[in-house]
Amino acid sequence: MAGSGPRVGVLALQGDVREHLAVLRGLGADAVPVRRPAELDDVAGLVIPGGESTVVDKLSRAFGLREPLVSRITGGMPVYGTCAGLIMLSDRVTDAIAGQQTLGGLDVTVRRNAFGNQNDSFETDLDIPELGDPAVHAVFIRAPAVTETGPDVVILAALDDGRIVAVEQGNLLGTAFHPEVTGEDRFHRRFLQRVAG
Ligand code: GLN
Repeated sequence: MAGSGPRVGVLALQGDVREHLAVLRGLGADAVPVRRPAELDDVAGLVIPGGESTVVDKLSRAFGLREPLVSRITGGMPVYGTCAGLIMLSDRVTDAIAGQQTLGGLDVTVRRNAFGNQNDSFETDLDIPELGDPAVHAVFIRAPAVTETGPDVVILAALDDGRIVAVEQGNLLGTAFHPEVTGEDRFHRRFLQRVAG
């Protein structure tokens, strides 16, 4: 059943699409998968899920979505990227594969697979004042970290060692972790507020 409010999309090229659709629908949103430019035209906001940024990059070009995505992001569409989605939204990426492109929009540098082998996946609690209590239980899976931020970027969360793991700039929101797998819905709420505003 379609929810109320503006229609929002989840980029459905690869990654954990279903989990994001479930969180958004749980919040009452009319959320649909986006694979084609015409489907992108139909949404007022977009979630880019986690998965593998190199694959999402290649598929977005193969599906003719890269240019439309860049132009919607530049035009101010609210977008929330998790993990590989954060990489896709970053202006600069280190440890990319040869030829890897991002969509950009966030004036940040992100390092792919920033936590190395021994820390392939881990979980921790993050205090994020903008989201209030309780702390966010964050699951990191082969996660990136933000290593540099431009002047317009708001840092929402960093680990104890200083590595930045959640950022916001205008209508763009990015987290290195996966709220959609833990029942955490405050980032999606924040995204939907941007869409409604
Ligand atoms: N390491 C992946 C990448 O580079 C991201 C992993 C994830 O999205 N969970 O795209």
